Amino acid sequence: MIEIKNFKSVIQVLDFFKEEETCKQYLEQQRWGHNITCPHCGHDLKIYRTNRGYKCGDKTCHKKFTVTTGTLMESTKIKLRYWFAAIYLITAHKKGISSHQLARDLGVTQTTAWFLNHRIREMMIQTEVQMLENIVEVDETYVGGKRINMHAWKRKELTDKYGTGYKEKTPVLGLLQRDGEVIAHKIPSSDGKTIKPIVKEKVKQGSTLLTDGHGAYADLHKHYDHVIINHDKGVYAVGEYHTNSLEGFWGIFKRGIIGIYHHVSPKHLDRYCNEFTYRYNSRKVTDCTRFELTLTKVKGRLRYQDLIAAA
Ligand SMILES: [Zn+2]
Repeated sequence: MIEIKNFKSVIQVLDFFKEEETCKQYLEQQRWGHNITCPHCGHDLKIYRTNRGYKCGDKTCHKKFTVTTGTLMESTKIKLRYWFAAIYLITAHKKGISSHQLARDLGVTQTTAWFLNHRIREMMIQTEVQMLENIVEVDETYVGGKRINMHAWKRKELTDKYGTGYKEKTPVLGLLQRDGEVIAHKIPSSDGKTIKPIVKEKVKQGSTLLTDGHGAYADLHKHYDHVIINHDKGVYAVGEYHTNSLEGFWGIFKRGIIGIYHHVSPKHLDRYCNEFTYRYNSRKVTDCTRFELTLTKVKGRLRYQDLIAAA
């Protein structure tokens, strides 16, 4: 059993995980606990040790595997200690870390850092968010390049296609339970037809729902105690109700997207949403605990081809 200290910096992570063998053992522990499981068939009763890893004892399987088989780290050429350092850095930085910065910090190429960044973001998917309840703030925001920063040809292309306005910005819907968790993901449109079903799916009926005066939220008073806070009329609180928590989350999200990542294409946007909600929802644990948690989520695969494929 490898017990890690309460790391307070990436230097401590790299110091502790000097040897690849330590990394491997630690990863095994986080992935399987005491129950080494064949990633090919799920068998966990008879597993043999080999020189390089394990062999499944199931009669019909008999396949070899290692701790990284079937994970985002499979057949990686990057040392596990660098993966660990990258995971620590990405999950600890409140606003995320750019591939450029990560490349400099780890001494790898920017392409490697970019791919590492995306794959680690894939581990930051939270599957266990429950329905939100009690007091829930709902609001949408828009992410995308400003027209003014675009090349003229691109601007013309978009204007021809969509007309002027916010069309090239992607709407993101956020739902936040007071003192609880946040959910955020991109939505195809910010109209009521899109938003209302999501609210009903994610927020328990009877909760107090706080929104602005956007028409997409009309009618929700049938299912919720709906409090409208008319920001556009200069109202920022109704009695004890406000949407400051979600505003705070958007603040971090937008500073991260604009300041760190600069351009986020719509096809990658949900991964960034995951990254920011994951950190926010684990805000009450230490950076070290968040690092340990993230290493239990190594399963899943994201291939380079999938990443660069057109949306
Ligand atoms: Zn097997």
